[in-house]
Amino acid sequence: MPTTPHSPAPRPAAAERVPIPARLAHAPVSAGLVVPYITLAHRDRTRPVWGSIDPHRLGEVLHHKRCQVCGERLYDTLVLMIRPSDYLRGVSVEPGLHPECAWYSRRACVMLAGHVDRYNPAGNTPLNRCGDPLCRCRYWAPAEDTVPGREGKPAEAWYEAWIRLDDYDVFTVPADESGPAATGIALRGVPFLRLRKVRDPAPDSGDSQPMDLLAALIAARKLWETIDATDDSEANP
Ligand SMILES: [Zn+2]
Ligand SMILES: [Zn+2]
Repeated sequence: MPTTPHSPAPRPAAAERVPIPARLAHAPVSAGLVVPYITLAHRDRTRPVWGSIDPHRLGEVLHHKRCQVCGERLYDTLVLMIRPSDYLRGVSVEPGLHPECAWYSRRACVMLAGHVDRYNPAGNTPLNRCGDPLCRCRYWAPAEDTVPGREGKPAEAWYEAWIRLDDYDVFTVPADESGPAATGIALRGVPFLRLRKVRDPAPDSGDSQPMDLLAALIAARKLWETIDATDDSEANP
């Protein structure tokens, strides 16, 4: 993996407890929150490193079309959590989610729920070793604990886009002025079955945010719906 996404995965928050959907009933839980499949964790997965991604699990779910929260196969329709910068680069660096796992993440993740306006600063979650001799934590490298260029940065807007599994393609964008090389799910030319905003960008982020074409796309879709509705009412008075 050339890059790892910052984790919009659940992590402990002051927020009220979010009900766990039936699909996640058997998932490991820590501090009342489901530990997502791609979150870095000790062999005892109820001991996660919140905010860190397991790069092996990330590659596995991405290439095998699995859900980043429960780790199971995705359905015919899946949800992508994307930012305007992902849309501009044409790749969703976050793996897909089941609709119900996306529902849970929107509420349980402090970033997606809008409870925080900054990503975790570097080194916020120290990599503690555990006493389990079979645990891989002794191989954890500090690099797996950070997302270069994101630490402490203001939050971007997040959107939820629904796509068909038939349109699912893994794609790598090369490094350019907007960021390092990134592998994820291709967005260019892929029809969005649904598109809606999940959270606004941090209020103080101003000019640091990329152009929000997703907001323009939503506005255009609303406009066309209005025109279609007008046409229908004229055709069927
Ligand atoms: Zn799932
Ligand atoms: Zn361990």
